[in-house]
Amino acid sequence: MVDHASDGIEVHGPESVAVGRVAVRLSMTRALKEMGVARSARTLTAMNQVDGFDCPSCAWPDPQAGERSHAEFCENGAKAVSWEATRERVGRAFFATHSLEQLRAESDHELESHGRLTEPMYLARGASHYVPISWDDALALCASRLREMADPNRAAFYTSGRASNEAAFLFQLLARRLGTNNLPDCSNMCHESSGAALTETIGIGKGTVSLEDITDHTDLIIIVGQNPGTNHPRMLSVLEAAKRRGARIVSANPLPEAGLVRFKNPQRARGLIGRGTALTDLFLPVKVNGDLAMFAGVNKILLEREEATPGTVIDRDFIESYCDGFDEAREGLRDLAWSDVEEASGLTRRQIEAVATEVMAARSVIVCWAMGITQHRNAVATIREIVNFLLLRGNIGRPGAGPSPIRGHSNVQGDRTMGIWEKMPDSFLDRLGEEFNIEVPRAHGYDTVDTIRAMRDGKIDVFFALGGNFVAATPDTAVTESAMAKVGLTVHVATKLNRSHVVHGEEALILPCLGRTERDLQASGEQFVTVEDSMSMVHASHGRLEPGSPHLRSEVAIIAGLGEALFGADVGWRAMAGDYRLIRRHIANVVPGFTDFEERVANPGGFVLPRPPRDSRTFDTASGKARFTHNALDAIQVPEGHLILQTVRSHDQFNTTVYGLDDRYRGIEGGRRVVFVNEADLAARGLADADMVDLVSVWDDGERRARSFRAVAYPTLRGCAAAYFPEANVLVPLDSTAVTSNTPTSKSIVIRLEAAQPT
Ligand code: SF4
Repeated sequence: MVDHASDGIEVHGPESVAVGRVAVRLSMTRALKEMGVARSARTLTAMNQVDGFDCPSCAWPDPQAGERSHAEFCENGAKAVSWEATRERVGRAFFATHSLEQLRAESDHELESHGRLTEPMYLARGASHYVPISWDDALALCASRLREMADPNRAAFYTSGRASNEAAFLFQLLARRLGTNNLPDCSNMCHESSGAALTETIGIGKGTVSLEDITDHTDLIIIVGQNPGTNHPRMLSVLEAAKRRGARIVSANPLPEAGLVRFKNPQRARGLIGRGTALTDLFLPVKVNGDLAMFAGVNKILLEREEATPGTVIDRDFIESYCDGFDEAREGLRDLAWSDVEEASGLTRRQIEAVATEVMAARSVIVCWAMGITQHRNAVATIREIVNFLLLRGNIGRPGAGPSPIRGHSNVQGDRTMGIWEKMPDSFLDRLGEEFNIEVPRAHGYDTVDTIRAMRDGKIDVFFALGGNFVAATPDTAVTESAMAKVGLTVHVATKLNRSHVVHGEEALILPCLGRTERDLQASGEQFVTVEDSMSMVHASHGRLEPGSPHLRSEVAIIAGLGEALFGADVGWRAMAGDYRLIRRHIANVVPGFTDFEERVANPGGFVLPRPPRDSRTFDTASGKARFTHNALDAIQVPEGHLILQTVRSHDQFNTTVYGLDDRYRGIEGGRRVVFVNEADLAARGLADADMVDLVSVWDDGERRARSFRAVAYPTLRGCAAAYFPEANVLVPLDSTAVTSNTPTSKSIVIRLEAAQPT
């Protein structure tokens, strides 16, 4: 990871209102700069429309067909498409004049700023520059390296959450046809903990809430570990609609994020000129990693109040009819000491009682969460406790109620539905084998962390990434980068140059693909693809722009081309690439919920997948019932003088893509190497705002250091700190992962601050 100096960073202090006129101006400025007038108009008016393309950024759902505005996107969606549909190009002349050494010295932002890739590029062993290679030669090289492997499990196939359903389905078919379940994906690093906890407790690894539950039905929305103003901005207009109807919002976050405080809706005149809508009714400055204690505290109070006035607080009929494990969970909560709850959550009993009072006044409650919950050692336990909270009052399986994990990347949920998982259930693998008449491997494969370990240990010959920026997204940057160098061949399907292309294996290929905005023309004519949003709606996405280069291929065509190079005609790779309807026919036969896929996805707005807990209070768990669980607090022990650091995104960033160097809502301008710390914590260490510090994380195997960060005195809770990823990923030990889900603990890293050492 490149260290860039922090000179020139300006700090203005956090804002208390999100979106408004500034967001509109910045969206348009960015679009015009990257795309020009005509291209901007064509692109932005097609975005998130029924006959247009799905935003390639987050997975927030669209309103029903007929209820969408002409500008159905947010500032960050506009940044994402401008970034993809830029007129800048990075072709063979660029690679001839830029050595890998030069490129490695550039920041992530600079690498992507060069523009769209235009043709396949190859890096030979020991070479200093990428050189052009034909598609046939690139795919033949990749196929031959895969064939040379002694064991199919010496390959790993990584998927980023942008891949369409069609590409993802074909990709997992390719890996399994080869004989491996090594299918790590970005979900391993984000909502794996949600999937694990929800599958265990309610029998489905996804949320059960629809957009209308928030806008039309719920009485109370609890938002934890999530910053919607930056990460899912159109959620703010949905929250605003709920507020105008009378719903209340409780939010808990170690940072007072602008998007949780007040929202100026750019779609309404009053939103542009007025003060905006106050969103949060009750804000809780919870400690980093304190959410389990907070929910346990709320649950304890609900049970105490039920004991005081039986039959008035919890939903006994629901619990008796649909749940098990209640008695054990109740005993665990009864034994919980308030001192432990307060210590672990950073909240007082009175603050937690205020939440319980809000809950008791609400007939229907939704809980929304994101990475602030999922990337901790006890993340799965935290989400299980959220489920306990919902079950206590029957808040699953009726309108306006339920769990709502909010997904980060546009099709990350769909990719998992399509079989991108290292441990898909046998029922799926059986159907896949029957559909294609192939032998399907059963041994579980590597997830993301295990893939890095395998690379490090010399057990991977070919690493193939369908999108994403693996080395920037993953933890323990120094370990991951040196692990990557031990791989025989690294292959990246990508739209733009990124760090994973310049931190490579012994040989490397970059295969340039179409973006979501671009027309996809195949043998049978123009194709569309499908995606699944955070609320299980499956819908079509039609690219509208001419491809950025005549040499680009779709992700489907690239995978199918490799499939044919490896296995010949076999399962019909070429036919599927020529007509995506054939892929959807196979999906309909293999993936539950996709019967009549082609017909149903033709509906404007698509269709919703079954969610049995919501649809019929059916729970596909081991016992057939929704499960209460007992979750010990197990708070992180922070040594004297240390802080708990969480990694966060800036407002000019989507996952590893850095659009610019500002973070408007947190008042940062012109740089990213900042660490947000409470002023009293700085003073206690003899430091002050604007001092330069190194961040040092401590772990069993030693210390890790991230150098030269500007300290920013910030109104976060004492004992807590925050810094941007990927810059702070170097601090996250590879072996520090969540129990059960193996998700890196990027939201709770024990660090200390030291005066910056010279680099
Ligand atoms: S909320 Fe998410 S999906 Fe919607 S436009 Fe913004 S970034 Fe794109």
